[in-house]
Amino acid sequence: MIVLVGTRDSNIKNGIISNEKCPKCNEESTLHFSIYRRYTHLTLIPLFPVGRLVFIDCDHCKEKFDYEDLPEKIQLKLRNEKLGATPWMYLGSIILAGFIIFSVSNYFKEKEETSILIQNPIEGDIYNLKFSNGYYSNMRIDKVTKDSIYTTHNNFDAYMSYEIDDLDKPENFTSRKSSYSRKELLKLYRDDEIIKIRRK
Ligand SMILES: [Zn+2]
Repeated sequence: MIVLVGTRDSNIKNGIISNEKCPKCNEESTLHFSIYRRYTHLTLIPLFPVGRLVFIDCDHCKEKFDYEDLPEKIQLKLRNEKLGATPWMYLGSIILAGFIIFSVSNYFKEKEETSILIQNPIEGDIYNLKFSNGYYSNMRIDKVTKDSIYTTHNNFDAYMSYEIDDLDKPENFTSRKSSYSRKELLKLYRDDEIIKIRRK
């Protein structure tokens, strides 16, 4: 995925200030203002607002000028307009926070599940493995007896932990048969070589 980070401006308010002296032509006139809120975005999903832009022009001389050019009194008037950020500007931050909370809670849920499932292997369990050489793979429990667990290892290894689950296809478990005692299996779990267990 391509991630683009940047800022965009959104017009949040337009209005007029009547009977005010224009700082350019010094005539009593109607001043038009447009207020923009600048927000950061991540691949066009707004993250949070960062600033405000105000554009003003005069009905009489049509000149454009900045907020700072206005007399104090009108600046105050404009400041009192409700210029808060609109909630959608925080959309990305909310999504991001939600995603982080989900990932963290999911991580602990999986950890807890694994700690329970390792106590009682049953046929069909898929054990995700992390080897000491840094590769990942999984194995399927084929048969469980009083003291032994018979397994078939996946034919493939993964380089990244997030790829392990994709390896879990029935056709990938063919010839790499192996067996463990319950003790050995628990040791692999304690040594963090068994990192996740999935039961269907
Ligand atoms: Zn003017």
